This record gives sequence, C-alpha cells and structure tokens, in this order.
Amino acid sequence: METPTKTPNVIDTSKMSPEERAALELAEASRVEAGPAGSFGSSLFLGKPLFESVFPFPAQTVEDEDQGDAFLSRLEAFLEEQVDADEIDRTGEIPEEVIEGLAKMGAFGIKIPREYGGLGLSQTNYSRAAMLLGKYCGNLTALLSAHQSIGVPQPLLVFGTEAQKQKFLPRCAAGEISAFALTEPNVGSDPAKIETTAELDTATGEYVINGEKLWCTNGVKAGVIVVMARMAEGRPADSDPKRPKISAFLVEMDTPGVEVTHRSRFMGLKALYNGVVKFTDVRIPAENLILEEGRGLKVALTTLNTGRITLPAACVGMAKRCLEWSTKWAGRRVQWGAPVGRHDAIAQKLARMKAETFAIEAMVRYVSLLVDRDKKSDIRIEAAFAKMWGTERGWDIVNEAMQIRGGRGYETAESLAGRGDEAVPVERFLRDSRINTIFEGSSEIMRLLIAREALDPHLKMGGPVLNSTLPMKDRAKAALRSAWFYGRWYPGLWMPVITAPRGTLPEFRGDARRVKAMSRKLARKLFHSMLRYGPKLEKKQVLLGRYVEVGAELFAMTASMGMAHQLIESGRGDRDDLTGTVGYFNRISRGKVNDLFRAIASNADVEGYRIAKRMLE
Ligand SMILES: Cc1cc2nc3c(=O)[nH]c(=O)nc-3n(C[C@H](O)[C@H](O)[C@H](O)COP(=O)(O)OP(=O)(O)OC[C@H]3O[C@@H](n4cnc5c(N)ncnc54)[C@H](O)[C@@H]3O)c2cc1C
Repeated sequence: METPTKTPNVIDTSKMSPEERAALELAEASRVEAGPAGSFGSSLFLGKPLFESVFPFPAQTVEDEDQGDAFLSRLEAFLEEQVDADEIDRTGEIPEEVIEGLAKMGAFGIKIPREYGGLGLSQTNYSRAAMLLGKYCGNLTALLSAHQSIGVPQPLLVFGTEAQKQKFLPRCAAGEISAFALTEPNVGSDPAKIETTAELDTATGEYVINGEKLWCTNGVKAGVIVVMARMAEGRPADSDPKRPKISAFLVEMDTPGVEVTHRSRFMGLKALYNGVVKFTDVRIPAENLILEEGRGLKVALTTLNTGRITLPAACVGMAKRCLEWSTKWAGRRVQWGAPVGRHDAIAQKLARMKAETFAIEAMVRYVSLLVDRDKKSDIRIEAAFAKMWGTERGWDIVNEAMQIRGGRGYETAESLAGRGDEAVPVERFLRDSRINTIFEGSSEIMRLLIAREALDPHLKMGGPVLNSTLPMKDRAKAALRSAWFYGRWYPGLWMPVITAPRGTLPEFRGDARRVKAMSRKLARKLFHSMLRYGPKLEKKQVLLGRYVEVGAELFAMTASMGMAHQLIESGRGDRDDLTGTVGYFNRISRGKVNDLFRAIASNADVEGYRIAKRMLE
C-alpha cells in the first residue's frame, strides 16, 4: 500500500488559541511515527486492510508458552490459596505476606530480563498473567500493573541507560514497588499543562523538582517513581523557547522533600495505594533523567502505548469469571417455570458476553504477540482499540453479569455468605472495573488518539495544501502530490470486493470479505467528512468517534476470526463452537457498524452541542 511520506507542519495551528496550539504542538511533537509498512489498525481507515498481518494469527512459540505456563501455574496456586480478594476489598489493605509472596515468585519483574533479576517473560505471558489476575483481584492487578506496565520498569526497558537499568531494575524485580506520576490537580488528560517543575542547578548538576502529583497509584508504598516535570525556561538550551518542555525523572521516595500528603480512596479498588505526592525542592542526580531533557512526554506516551494493553487483558479475566458465574446461575435459577438462561432475554446476554470476551482476548493476544515479534512494532492504534473497546465491553459484561444474577448480583459477597448463599463478588468486580474506561487514557481520549492516527495519512497529504502558515510554493507542491495520490486511491475504494483475503478459514470467507468492504466504506466516508468539514472535522469529536468505533469493530471481527482459526488448526478448540461464536459475533458487530454508518449520515450532534453549550453558559 502506498503510504504518504512524512511532511512537517501538517496541521494549521494559526487560528488556534495559544493554549490549544501548545497542547496540540506538544502532542504532535511526542507522536511516534508509524513505520513504512503501516499497521492493521491504520490500514482499516485507508480501506486496504492488511489482512496478512492477522491471517495467519501470530502465534506464541511452544517454548515461550511453556515458560509462561510454569509461572502462571505458580501464580494461580498462590491466588487460589493465599489471597482473599474480598478481605482485601473490605479492609482496603493488601496483607504484607501477599506482597512478599508475589515478590518471591517474581511477579514484580515478569517482563524484566533475567540479567536484571526478572523472570524475562514475553509481553504475551505478561498479558496472560494480567488475564489471570483479573479473574481474582482488581487490587492486585492494579498494584502489579501500575508497577510494571507504567511504573519504573517499562520506561527503563525502552529508554533507560545501562547504568539506570543496572541500578533500578533488580530492585523492581525483587519487589520494590514503583509508580508513574503524570497527573496533577490541574492536569488530567492534557499533559501539556504540567505544572510540576524541574530546574537544573548548574552548580551541583542536580535537578530540583517542585510540585504536586495527584492519584499516583502505588505512590503510597513506592520506593522509586517516574515523575513528569516541566523544565524551567531556557532548558533544553537548544529548543524552541515557546514550546513547553517536559522531562521524565526517576525519583527515590526517600529523597528529602518528597512527601505523600494524602491517600486517595475510591468507589472500587479499595486497596489501591494511591496518593498525592508533593515535591518541595527535591534534589535528584542528573543521571536520574530518563532519555533527554524535553523528551518526557515521548517517554510517557510510549510507555502508555504498551502499558495500556494490561487493562483489556485484565478485563478478559474479569469477563471470563463473570461468564462462569452467569452461566452457572442462569442454568440453576428457575423462574417462570424454566432456568432464567432459557428465557430469551437472558440467553442473548450470555451469548453476547461469551462472544465479546473472546473478541477482547483476541485483540489483546494479537497486540501482545506483535510486541513479542518486534519490540518496535507500531501498535498504537491496535493497543488503543483494545483499551477502548476492551474496557467498554468489559464494563458491559460485568454489568450484564450483575443483571443476570439479579438481586444477588447487587449484594456484597460478605452479605451473601452471611446468610448462607454462595459468595459471588460480582458487586466488587463491577466497582473495581468502572475505572478502566477512565485511567491510562480515557475512552474519549482513546477516540481522539485513534482518530488522529486515522487521519494522519490525509493530514500529511492534504494538510499542507490547506495550511496557511506554509509558503505558497510548498503548498502548490503538496497539491500536486495529493492529486496524484487521491486520483489513484479514491476510485479503488468503490471497487466491489470479490475475493476473501488469503488464509481465511472457509467458514469465515464471507465475513472477511464483508470486513474488507466495510473498511472501504469507512475510508470513503471518512474522506467525504474531511472534504465536507475541512479543519473543522477535528472539533466533531462524536462524528470522528463513530469512525473510530467502526474501525474497532472491524479489528475485533478480524482478530476474532484469526484467533479462532489458529485455535482450530492447533486442535485447541472445537470447530463448531468457535465458528458459531465468532460468526455470531461478526453478525452483531456488522449490525453495529451499519448503525454507526447510519448515524454518520444522520444524527443530532449539532442540536446536542447547542444544548450543552447553553447549559454551560
Ligand atoms: C484510581 C485512579 C488511579 C490513577 N492512577 C494514576 C497513576 O498511577 N498515575 C497518573 O499519572 N495518573 C493516574 N490517574 C489519573 C488518571 O489517569 C486520570 O484520571 C485520567 O487521565 C483522566 O484525567 P482527569 O481525571 O483529570 O479527567 P479530565 O482530563 O479532567 O477529563 C474529564 C472528562 O473529560 C474528558 N475529556 C478530557 N479532555 C477531553 C477532550 N479533549 N475531548 C473530549 N473529552 C475530553 C475525559 O475523558 C473525562 O471524561 C489515576 C486516576 C484514578 C481515578
């Protein structure tokens, strides 16, 4: 597929407010550029899905799987025998012996290479561990995930110097807890406004940090954390003085001036060691800077790209547990003369939960396997799809499990046990999972991020033509280049899809063809919206969100078909069951895509925005 080349200044920022411009320019400067081959996610928006990267579905090697199995069986035995997740929820504390037990088995260093004292397991095995943890305890999942998905190990593995790795990774692997501190009272989804400062003391060569971080998960118990701070004016010396420069630092929590001033408590995840961390003239050595001055946002965003796979992975575990409980209850509970699962309303819920759980797992495994294949794989869109779609479906699934269990779903496990009923903690699962669509990139931000990436090839092509800040000569050159590209690309989107992608299981040929056709329609409609709205399209978040949702459905369908095919071929799954479940999922998903296309053509977005505007005034 033709991928347009990188062109600078693709977005016209001349009509934006200084704040908007700063936020956008910072976000743009921190983007990781896609590789020349593109990714499956981005190809969906261009109408030319790269099926060859999903069919055949990437596979875990036998050796890798065995290594994972050995750890997972130890972890599972520990969770079964040593962990009382309801007690952790009730007391709001994780017993020390549980933390020690996890540390002893290496659960704090799952991905840390063996040379630094970790288990050296793959991303896939790490995701499998998150799936397992998600089945048992949200608090332990968050503890281990904040530590190694976003805490010190992940950014150091990607950007750390050898000295930093030698110093910090063995400590992290042994169980010293770490954390990631980006959020501040005035800085949530928009990191460009970070107020915590870092100033270089040229006399001592140390950085001096001042500020306050909010909701730092593990901050209350951590020994070392990653802190994002804004450089004082003039640093780095060679940079654009107008652009805010954020850097990432390793901060030891026992450094004078570091203080945890509050432990935050939440609706769920009652035992999260989450706090407000204050920094008053905190002096840290220059060697604790990660990457370079001014590259902190790149560190943070790259860390989150991979880190955010953990949340949908945990949702898979949670959803599988919900399925077990719901199936058991729906088969046993008799009302109106039949088990409730035989009543159509509940039967449909069960089927959908099963199919969606499979799809989340397929997305997570696909992205994890891509990371294992090549650490530099461009997984931004697929990881964001998995985070957005997986956590939203995870929430639907736990909500349906509560509905299926009726009043018992709403009752706490302790109360159920207290009156002799089975202690099924759906209520705890629901409370614990609500946060998943908010942190590590909220669903709204995931839609913006994916939409930005979906539009990227067009911004590179057409953006410079419309960018009034560029010289006329450059704009004319860009116009010629886009005429050449669009003249060939656009007509191709109207071609009927006759053949199924190579490597498709016979049962899925029709569905795979339809995915291809829907991807062409997605690309056409997105292009039409660009022509219709021009730069104003960026403000039409709900419209763009619908395009993103279509992309997510197409990815979910394709990943499900790929994984089902692989399970069938390797003899690990029943053909009828898998093709039936995935075929059913595809049908539901296609229905959603058709609804989304209809809503793209006709919607009440303008009226909705007008009403909200009046409300805010
Ligand atoms: C339990 C918990 C644990 C956390 N752990 C950590 C941690 O370890 N480290 C850390 O740094 N942070 C952590 N956070 C912070 C978390 O990542 C933020 O809550 C999240 O980024 C959203 O920021 P916010 O809450 O300030 O919401 P805001 O950014 O104020 O957003 C409010 C709402 O507006 C939406 N919104 C914002 N901007 C836009 C936009 N441009 N377009 C459309 N919609 C928009 C958001 O999606 C959200 O729905 C944690 C938070 C919680 C509650």
